[in-house]
Amino acid sequence: MRRRLDRYGPNALPPARRTSAAVRLLRQLHHPLIYVLLGSAVVTGLLGEWVDCGVILGVVALNAVVGFIQESQAEGALEGLRSMVRTRARVVRDGREQVVPSDDLVPGDVVVLDAGDKIPADARLTRSARLSIDESALTGESVPVDKDEVVVLPDLTPVADRHNMAYSGTLVIAGSGAGVVVATGTGTELGEIHRLVGAADSLDTPLTVKLASFSKILTVAILALAVVTFAIGLLRGQDPVETFTAAIALAVGAIPEGLPAAVTITLAIGVSRMARRRAVIRRLPAVETLGSTTVICTDKTGTLTQNEMTVTAVWTPAGEYAVTGSGYESAGTVLDAAGHPVDLHEDGGTVAALRWSLLAGAACTDASVHHADGRWGIVGDPTEAAMVVAAAKAGLTADRVGADYPRLATLPFSSELQYMATLHEDTDTHDRVILAKGAAERILDLCHAQLGDDGDLVPLDRAVVHAAAVDLAGRGLRVLATAMGVLDGATDLSGDGLSGRLTFTGLQAMHDPPREAAAAAVRACRSAGVAVKMITGDHAATATAIAHRTGLLDDDNPPSGAVLTGTDLDTIPPDRYADAVDRAHVFARVSPEQKLRLVDALQDRGHVVAMTGDGVNDAPALQQADIGVAMGASGTEVAKDAADMVLTDDDFATIKAAVEEGRGVFDNLTKFIAWTLPTNIGEGLVILVAIAFGTALPILPTQILWINMTTAVALGLMLAFEPKEPGIMTRPPRDPDQPLLTNALIARMLLVSALLVGGSWWLFAWERTDGAGLAEARTAALNLFVVVAVFYLFSCRSLTRSAWRIGLFTNRWIVVGVAVQLLAQLALTYLPTMNAVFGTEPIGADTWLRILVIATLATTVVAVDKRLRRAPARGPKDDRRRDHRPSPRGSGGDGLEVRRGRR
Ligand code: ATP
Repeated sequence: MRRRLDRYGPNALPPARRTSAAVRLLRQLHHPLIYVLLGSAVVTGLLGEWVDCGVILGVVALNAVVGFIQESQAEGALEGLRSMVRTRARVVRDGREQVVPSDDLVPGDVVVLDAGDKIPADARLTRSARLSIDESALTGESVPVDKDEVVVLPDLTPVADRHNMAYSGTLVIAGSGAGVVVATGTGTELGEIHRLVGAADSLDTPLTVKLASFSKILTVAILALAVVTFAIGLLRGQDPVETFTAAIALAVGAIPEGLPAAVTITLAIGVSRMARRRAVIRRLPAVETLGSTTVICTDKTGTLTQNEMTVTAVWTPAGEYAVTGSGYESAGTVLDAAGHPVDLHEDGGTVAALRWSLLAGAACTDASVHHADGRWGIVGDPTEAAMVVAAAKAGLTADRVGADYPRLATLPFSSELQYMATLHEDTDTHDRVILAKGAAERILDLCHAQLGDDGDLVPLDRAVVHAAAVDLAGRGLRVLATAMGVLDGATDLSGDGLSGRLTFTGLQAMHDPPREAAAAAVRACRSAGVAVKMITGDHAATATAIAHRTGLLDDDNPPSGAVLTGTDLDTIPPDRYADAVDRAHVFARVSPEQKLRLVDALQDRGHVVAMTGDGVNDAPALQQADIGVAMGASGTEVAKDAADMVLTDDDFATIKAAVEEGRGVFDNLTKFIAWTLPTNIGEGLVILVAIAFGTALPILPTQILWINMTTAVALGLMLAFEPKEPGIMTRPPRDPDQPLLTNALIARMLLVSALLVGGSWWLFAWERTDGAGLAEARTAALNLFVVVAVFYLFSCRSLTRSAWRIGLFTNRWIVVGVAVQLLAQLALTYLPTMNAVFGTEPIGADTWLRILVIATLATTVVAVDKRLRRAPARGPKDDRRRDHRPSPRGSGGDGLEVRRGRR
């Protein structure tokens, strides 16, 4: 194996070709602002203002480098995420089935395929049971192809017609099979296509696209304003060069150049924070949508529960048995009602039903249990593994069953069928035996008889079996029914062929403990105004019991309509459907198509829906949901492909964590915008006023460039590292239709801009009358802008709480950034070279004092404004009520607009 791996290389495709670094660097120059800057560099150069020209070019270069580094880091972070969701393959090595990373596959390996798998390498099929594969990724043909290992094809058969092959990257839609790997990695058909195209994911999201077009429109508007300003200056008879410089200053100052980069960075930081909490984002827009989620529709098995099944009871018409032991270890016994261990051979006909039931669990299965490194592990579905273990506890080990009842054919399990059946040969009697297991209702539909007390066939007593199933499910146990049939010459395993021909043998009930963190996470979601609904294929009674244990239902007698079954859903009149769905908390025995309709109905009610799924048939619902969430550990590759987010630990609590992080990302974006725009508006207005009144500019264009560049990097970006606000999960979800900036936020930004303009003019005038030269007064005004930006930065760290309450060291990056900025200001003010380049001059301590006083006054005004606007805190009771409201989105809070991520 190792030698083959060395020879053929890992079964992986090289990372998609990325645009070269030089092109990516040049792309940074493709921005309206940069054109303005380059234009002004040319003009200042022509005018012989070499210092200004040099500064402008330096800023252009710096801007390009910073943009390049930020973009590369964001892309790198996303790239790293991809490797977190590693695909695995089931192979037969050393005579037993094992799970290995797909990268380790080599030609010659035998891979086992099941519905929902992504084919890990090109393989010649050796076995197939109703195997149907979606090859659209390879051939573009959207209709799944039925595969058959038996056919032999001529040499030049085109890929799309090779029915005896399975190709890497295509998806198993139904059935099962196996094949011998013939090509891996770049040698596969997919590898060939990959070499031809190779593309990297884009970093665009609805928000970044919207912001990019917003800043383009803004740029054009500002340029128009700059032209008008230039014209006014000329008409007033001012010096053309000076007026031109002023117009450039206006443009440069007012354009929020750092905005698109800051948004991408904030999103990228959000993505890596989510990854640390085990939620891997596959599509960047999901980060935005998560913050607006109003409903989470979650699976039961594996998400709210641990998906570690242990059969604890077997019910047969002849009596109930207890199964001892825990986990997948076969240490344990099957005990009869009197507590005596059962002996399947000695106890005769009375245990016939038990024996057949356990046999179905052991033989009608694709799971296996193995012991390695001192631990018991499973390959395959935990439900099936639990039944394999239960049979082994009574002596029906997998090896023995395999030898006594070799399998001839399989009807694989699917969520639509809700059962699985296999055909075997009884090596003792040479009879053909059918074994089946599945949801009790489905299995009973296939049966006409049951095994009675002494092992004889008696008519099926549906009511009694049903009552027993409900009783077991009511204890929170997952119940599967089993059946058998001895049929002469039977080969047809299709549902129609089996219907009414089988004999019911028993019910196996398994324990699947709720996840520890689930109840707390459900509570947290509800207090955050996010409703949690369970959608499961399991029995209503099991679902209800688990819903109680995880706090999804708080009443022991839930109101009517709180629990709906698939059958209920089909009978609700269309006009009442959405309302009924919105009110219900638990949906049981739901089919994948019904899931899709549920998401649709919830979205029609205005909800932003996060929906979990793991099966192959969940893909449409995952795609329809605003955020499709797939299970990283137990989910199928098909589901992962369709999802926006993958949970590496399958845990419900991780969805809650992602929602929390999503809200944090939005907060930080809003904070950045609220912080950056006032400086831009302030700078633009200061220049406008100067030209309108025909006075000297209080700040020069190169100085404005300095402020914008240094503060965006040293101060603004640090907001992306801001920790989440404490009450983040006690406020309602933000309305995705809420405008980009709320009125409250716009008012605050205008207030800060006005304070900046007023403060800088007042200071500039004071300095001038105090006898300061133009350069010194400008240095004072420039420093005032920066100091106010620093003070205001602390205020922007929270959208509602006052700066004092946050604590200085809760974001160490801010402290570092401020220190760097202040050092830079000192250098700008006191270093002769900086003075020469930027036209600054040293200022005295009294000027610094005035700067501090003005900045403090401005900050106090902002703090008072914040205090007055703060919404009164809400109690959890209100939130609970909100949880049941048809459209539970709140309207408060500052925010940005994001369109719904529906595809
Ligand atoms: P959830 O949607 O919460 O994961 P689930 O696992 O019960 O719930 P499905 O996988 O759709 O949902 O299963 C539906 C029903 O089919 C189960 O309740 C069970 O009765 C039956 N079932 C599940 N797995 C198998 C299997 N491997 N073989 C036969 N029947 C099964």
